[in-house]
This record gives sequence, C-alpha cells and structure tokens, in this order.
Amino acid sequence: MDLVIRGGQLVDGSIADIGIAGETIVQIGGELSAPNEIDAHGKLLLPGGVDAHVHLSSPPIERSGPAWVDDFTSGSAAALAGGITTVGNMTFGAPGESLLQALERETAVARRASIADVFLHPVLASPDADNLAEIARLGSEGCSSMKVFLTNPHFNRDLDGHIEAIRRAGEAGVVSMLHCEDAATIAFATRQLVSQGKTSLRYFGESRPVIAEVVATQRALAIAELTGAPVYIVHLSSARALALCAVARARGLHVYVETRPLYLYLTSERLQTPEAGKFVGQPPLREHSDVDALWTGLRSGIIDTVCTDHAPWSLQAKLDPAHDIEHLRPGVENLQLLLPMLYSEGVRTGRISLSRLVELSSSNAAKLFGLYPRKGAIAVGSDADLVIFDPDLERTVTAAMLKSNVDYSVYEGWRVTGWPTVTIRRGEIVFRDDLVIGQAGSGQVLSCGRGGVL
Ligand SMILES: [Zn+2]
Repeated sequence: MDLVIRGGQLVDGSIADIGIAGETIVQIGGELSAPNEIDAHGKLLLPGGVDAHVHLSSPPIERSGPAWVDDFTSGSAAALAGGITTVGNMTFGAPGESLLQALERETAVARRASIADVFLHPVLASPDADNLAEIARLGSEGCSSMKVFLTNPHFNRDLDGHIEAIRRAGEAGVVSMLHCEDAATIAFATRQLVSQGKTSLRYFGESRPVIAEVVATQRALAIAELTGAPVYIVHLSSARALALCAVARARGLHVYVETRPLYLYLTSERLQTPEAGKFVGQPPLREHSDVDALWTGLRSGIIDTVCTDHAPWSLQAKLDPAHDIEHLRPGVENLQLLLPMLYSEGVRTGRISLSRLVELSSSNAAKLFGLYPRKGAIAVGSDADLVIFDPDLERTVTAAMLKSNVDYSVYEGWRVTGWPTVTIRRGEIVFRDDLVIGQAGSGQVLSCGRGGVL
C-alpha cells in the first residue's frame, strides 16, 4: 500500500480509512498502513468529479479571432483545484477530418498536456457517408459519445441523415449529446429583432427564446422514441424543456439531462447590464421560475448531471464592443467552481443531499459515458480519484484565485462555503495547499465502455 487517507467522512456519513496502492483503491476500513498518510478528519471524502462537458483549446486547430484561453493543462489545473479529476472534452474536427481522425489528433494533444483524466466527444459536423460508417466503430475505439448541434442549420436541412446518425450511435453503444436549440427558430427570432434595430446584447435572450429550446428538445425526444437510441441533452436551461424530458422519461425513453451552473445561479437580468457580454451563453440566461424548476429537477432526479460547459474567454474577448446578437462569444469559465458552489448553494442550503451532489457531479456522468465504476465511485478496485473536501472552508470568489487562464469570473464576489483541500487523481496528489502539483502529461485519455446507460 502506498497511501492511506485517514478519518474522512464518506457520502453515507460513515468514517473510514482508505488504502491506495498505485493508482487504485485497495481497501476501505480495517487495519491500514502505508509510507504516506493524509489526515482527513473533519473533512468529507468525495469521489473525484467527472465533468462531461468542457471546451479546452486543442492546437493546431486555428479559429478566427481569439480562442478559448484554457488548454488541457490550464483547464486541468482549474478542474483539479475544484475537485474534478476527469473531464469530457468536445472534439471539433479540423476541415476535412473524420470523426476518428479528430479523436486521434486530440488524443495525442491531451496525452501531452493534460493533468486530469480525459474522455473525448467527437462533434458530428455532418452525417455524410464516411461519418455514418465511422459512428459504428466509435464504440469499439473506446469512445462512448458523439456531439450533435441542433443549432447548426445543417441539422434541419439533413434531418434524415442526423436521425440515422443518432440511431447508429445508439446501436454502437454511443450516446448522442444534443445541443437543443432549434436553428430555424433562432434565425427567425434574430431576423425579427434585426429588422426592428434591436441588435444589442440586451436582446440576446429574445434572439434565442425558450421556444427554440422547446422545439429542439421535442425533436430530440422524438428521435429517441423513433430510434430507441439514448440521447443526452446538454446544458438544458428552461422549465418548459425540462417538463418535456420528465414526460419522455416517464414513458421509458432513454433521455438524460444535463444542466450547467450558469442556469442555477444567474438570471436574464444580467443581460440588461452594460456587461451583458460577460454573461452570454447558449442557451441564454433564463428567469427565476426556470432556476427554481432546475433545482427541483436536481432534487427529483430528472436532471442527471451538472457539467460546466467550461468555455473560457478573456474578459476583453467577451466584452468586445462590436458584439451584437449575431456576433458574440458564448460560454464562461466554470471548472474550479462547479463543485464548491453546488455544495455551498445546494447541500448547505438543504436543496440537495450530499449523495445527490455526488451523483450529479461524478457518478452519473461516469455511468452515462461508460467509465463506472472505474470513475465516479469510492470502492475497492476503483481508480483512486479522491477529493478531501472541507465543508466549512469559506472563501470569496476572485479572478485571482482561479487556476484557469481566465481573467474574470461571472461569480466574482460570491461567498462560497466548502472547498477541496486535496485532490488525488489515480493515487497521485495533484492538488494540495492551493497548488496544482500534478504534471502536464500525467493525465490519461480514457477508453470508455458502452455509453447511454444509467
Ligand atoms: Zn458546450
């Protein structure tokens, strides 16, 4: 045995020592000794978080204009400081690249640069014959997921092809992650606003109304029913779309729901301020009634995961004065704050239990993407991905505390109680004393089992 963690409180409330050999948990409770020990008395011991939805920059793909400011190294640092040990990155293909080629390229980048463990979601740019043929092979290549944007005008134009792609994915044990906002609805709403001269970001919410999410969610649910394939709706934002998912789930469809922190803590009023650009995400911020519905969904189980959609830009890039409802940069930094804020705002307030927090931030994503029980569990034989979490540590969010390369946070000034003090990834202490000490290149690109089963 190499490392023992003493006296931490597990999710079920019991206190147990944990024994780690190499990268693996080998004993829970009983007599334990090892050359290295960590004292976790008075702390919670959580399984490392699994954030299935992040955007980390992956050269050599060049974008026009500025890029996301985090690569696999700085994104890992933010994740580990926040108790997330595994991230699922969206793998966009370079022009002309197939799904498997994109995966191969990004796997090499992640192996060199990542500290956190990684799994990858190839983005389906088009359901052409080559991609359709490759979808059947994704599962056997250790990939459990594929991303499809219903926001892409191509989606409606080749609906038939996309349905077939999602069907084949399901057959191959690959879950389709769907961005549910309807392209035609957004185009219509945007045209109306432009014709009225309402182009500033204060109209951003109206340019992507709830009905755009509703109609795309209905489409996603219809495809799940038609094909029997599992669908995972990313960053769901509204009460109306959530209600549709609840009905579909009750009817036995394989529908899974993710939301992200932005929709749990902030509302559309932010888009009426001079700094609206800071808060632009897709879908847009919604109303207080939507926030309440999402929290109810977290508690009831209709929402399966809280993932960040970490897409970090510099403040200057977000507040570009040229931005309007047709030209903008969606997304915010979030990796380091996901778990502390969900604990502080969810568990401490009594809105969700500690075991729900673990399901939402770790074990459900591990299951849905074919990584459980290697990830998402504190169990003998599981990877030793562990977070020693101080439930009473109170800190105020500042940009300076963030390990991400961002220079701002939408949560600056937020008082958060409950923070990781030590993060262990596969038996190695990678974050301690507020320092990320894991090395770039020590993260693994994981091979996933079948996805889409919870
Ligand atoms: Zn995303």
